[in-house]
Parts: sequence; C-alpha cells; structure tokens
Amino acid sequence: MKQIISQLKNISMMLIWDVITAVALFVLTYFVMDELQTTFSKFMLAAGVSLFVLVMLVIKYQLLYKQYGRDDVTGGKNKKEFERIAKDLLKGDGSYVVVYANIDRFKLINETYGNDVGDQILRQIHKIIDDELRWDEVSGRIMADNFGVLMRYHSLPKLDQRLYRISKQLSELTDEQGNSYGIILYFGVYVVEEDETNISVMLEHANLARKKISPSHLVPMGIYDVKESQRLGRDKALEMKMHNALEQGHFVPFLQPKYELEGESIAGAEALVRWIDPEEGMIYPNEFIPLFESNGFIVELDLYMFEEVCKLVERWNKEGHPIIPVSVNLSRSHFEIPNFFDYYEYVLKKYDVPPRSIEIELTESLFFNDMESLSVLVQQIHDAGLSCSIDDFGSGYSSLNMLKDVKVDALKLDRVFFESGDNDERGKDIVQSVIQLAQALDLHTISEGVEEREQVEFLKEMHCDLIQGYVFAKPMPVPEFEKLAFRS
Ligand code: C2E
Ligand code: CA
Ligand code: CA
Repeated sequence: MKQIISQLKNISMMLIWDVITAVALFVLTYFVMDELQTTFSKFMLAAGVSLFVLVMLVIKYQLLYKQYGRDDVTGGKNKKEFERIAKDLLKGDGSYVVVYANIDRFKLINETYGNDVGDQILRQIHKIIDDELRWDEVSGRIMADNFGVLMRYHSLPKLDQRLYRISKQLSELTDEQGNSYGIILYFGVYVVEEDETNISVMLEHANLARKKISPSHLVPMGIYDVKESQRLGRDKALEMKMHNALEQGHFVPFLQPKYELEGESIAGAEALVRWIDPEEGMIYPNEFIPLFESNGFIVELDLYMFEEVCKLVERWNKEGHPIIPVSVNLSRSHFEIPNFFDYYEYVLKKYDVPPRSIEIELTESLFFNDMESLSVLVQQIHDAGLSCSIDDFGSGYSSLNMLKDVKVDALKLDRVFFESGDNDERGKDIVQSVIQLAQALDLHTISEGVEEREQVEFLKEMHCDLIQGYVFAKPMPVPEFEKLAFRS
C-alpha cells in the first residue's frame, strides 16, 4: 500500500510540473514571437505548443500508469505488479504454486477474428482466472497470451480440478454466432519451495514445465521436475565441452576382453568409450551416449572411436601380436545420414587393418527399421573386410525373422539373460534355445554381462563361443589390456 501511495505522489508531482511547463511555454511563446503580426496567430502558435506538451503529458501519464501496475489490455495486473504482490503473499504461511498459463494457438484466434476480439478474449480469460482466485492468490498477464498465477497448493488433484474449472469456462467462450473459439490453456506448474522469493525464476520454471505436458491430468499440464531440470543443466554443460573434448583427445577407448570358453583365454575385445575430463575425471557412457544420440554428436564420436581402433589394430599387427578382433559400437543415429558408411571406408583406407580384425556392433533396436537398408549395410561392412554382430540381442522385442534377411556374423546375448532372477530354469532354457538357433544359422554367440562362475559353466555346456563380463574382466585402459592379452 505504501508503495502505491508513494507512486501516486510521484505521479501527481510530475503532473503539476508538466502543467506549469505547459503554461510557461504558452506565455513564453506568446510574448517572444514578436515577428508574428496578429494576436490571433500568436495565440494559435502558443496554443499549438501547449497542446503538444499536453499530448506528451498524456503519453507520459499512461506510461507511468502502466508502470504502476495495470495491464492495459486486460485491466488486470501486469507482470511487475503480479510479481510484487506474489512476493508479498509468499511471506505468509502455507504452500503455493506458480502457474504459467498459455493459450494454445492464440495467433490463430488473432488471425481469424482480428486483434480486437483477441484482446477481448484476453480480458475474459483474465476475468475467469481472477474469479477463481481467493484473496491470498494473485494473477497477472506476463506478456502476450501468457498469464502467471500464484495459487495455494494443497494437492495435485485439487490444483488440477481448479485449473479444470478455469479451462471449462474458457472452452465455453463463443463468438457472436455462438460458435466456440475452442480456447485451450496449457499450464506449467512450479511448486514453490520454502523461503523462495524470486518470482521471475519461478515463472521461468513453470514456463519450462509447460513445454512438457503430461497426459495424466484433467487439463494439459506439465509440472516442473527438479531432477529433470538438473539433468537438462548437466546436458547443457556436457554439450558445451564435447567438441573441445573430442579435439583434445578426452574421449578414450577402453577395452573389455571377450573370453573363449575352452581355454578361457582372450579372443576379442569391445571398445567402450570413456570421457576422461581433466576436471571431473572419468565420465561413463550412460551419462553422455543418450545425449549424444539425441544431439547427433554420437556420429562424430563413433567415427572417432572407429579410427582409434583402426590405429590400435594396425599397431598390434606391426608389432607382431596375434590378431585380437576388436568390436566398435555403431549408433542408430548414423542411419539418418545418407551414405554414412563411406566415411568408415574412407577412415579404414588410411590404415593397414588385417581382414576381419574389426567388428561392428549394430544395436538390436536398429533391426526394427528398414530391413533392406540394413542388409545393404551389412553387405558393405563385409565388403570392407569387417565383420558384424547384433548387439543387445534379446533386450527388446527381437524379431527372429530379421536373422533370415540380415546376414550378420554374431549374436551378442544381452545381459538381461544373465541377471539372476527366480526364473532361473526358464532363463536357462531360453539362453539354450537362442544359442542353438544361432548355431543353426552359423552365427557366433557372445554372452554379455556374465558375472557368475556358475553361468560360465552352463554357457560352456551350451557351446557358447565367447563371454564378455565382469566374471572375467571389466573394461580397462588399452595398456592394461595389452599386458593381459599379450603377456606370453
Ligand atoms: P553395450 O554396448 O551393451 O556395452 C556393454 C556394457 O556392459 C558396458 O558398459 C560394459 O562395461 C557393461 N558390462 C560388461 N560386462 C558386464 C557385467 O558383467 N556386468 C555389468 N553390470 N555390466 C557389464 P559401458 O562401458 O558403461 O557402456 C554402456 C553402453 O554405452 C554400451 O552398452 C553402449 O550402448 C554405449 N557405448 C559405449 N561406448 C560406445 C561407443 O563408442 N559408441 C556408442 N554408440 N555407444 C557406446
Ligand atoms: Ca556393444
Ligand atoms: Ca551390448
């Protein structure tokens, strides 16, 4: 209240000054303009100047009025005033939410009915929202077709019901002919934490939440999720430094040995990327691979890993070591790039890589897509002298039919098969059948994620070819792998 009174005082002071200026200008013009002959023309000029000043004054007054808190379209509160009152209300007890409401496709309404109708609708929305509020709640127009509301918070269903009441009235708004405007409000909700005061930030959070509508409410509504937003923040930070990290060699291939079962010796390896950040230390792929798959950077990273493995295999060959095939992962994002395998062939040509010493792992989920382009890719992989396996086999909904058309060399049984559960016998039966199926099709089998000795014995009986799992070794830096693999 004090603030409003002091604002009003300021405004009236300025008003008085402006009137004095206008009168002074009138008098000055009247007496100074001697060249003008008639009293009438002097009077006209002076009146003109005064009028100009008065117009300026009105504009200024309006600006001040707006600044003081009124929204000129709805007649309700503007953002500043909303934030000011919300801040005051938050000083009281009890829980609150900040709701950010936006009209779906408001632009279309403006375009169809004109801006006047658009403004009228905004006024109605403001009224409907305001009528729903209690004395200790407040709403305001943030900008354009966006409203901010500070509401009491008891439970999500209760809030949902209140917002639904608002939405329902809005959906009943019609034009003169009685046709519905079809207005839908989208809500973003931020639950205010204790001692929080920055309404602008809360509005931003609520607005962000509005972009992730969840279908489980009466109204289209998204709720701000702290964890989700932390993840987004983390993703942003990783994205900022990923390009530099690639240039600086912070992405490093680790190798996890694959063991053959007869003599239990190393017969292969999988290259798994590790991000060794100078400040953070080791970052594991689960933290960045999904991000890179969504932002497309995985394509560069996979190619980089492939080149690193080419270099490694060439060096081993030159040093006279026995050939140990190394597999690399190929993300499904590659398929969005036409002729992406040309890049692989280009890289491969730079190195002297013995045939079949590198294997490409294609993830099972790839096989839901277009079988034909997949068969072409597998052919290209073979033509380039590489071999090829299906990764994570059994993790999704494997279509066994794909094995008929796509001529891969090996199946990697996903680790879900080896996570111990109550259904051990049935699990064993399934593993046995998959291995037998692979054998019938002349495919090698690799069991992944094996952690127990007992499973090793069972897989031996089943004549599984290779095992990759913690029971033998975890992924390790290349020098460590070399010591282990080439020690004799
Ligand atoms: P993946 O291709 O299925 O790789 C196997 C993952 O299982 C590895 O995790 C490995 O450390 C882990 N693992 C192996 N044996 C065991 C075991 O006995 N028990 C358990 N609990 N885990 C085991 P990692 O290295 O963290 O990689 C995770 C995933 O990240 C990989 O799953 C792969 O999808 C992706 N990834 C890693 N490197 C690359 C890469 O260079 N390119 C692409 N596109 N994806 C990669
Ligand atoms: Ca893999
Ligand atoms: Ca796998």
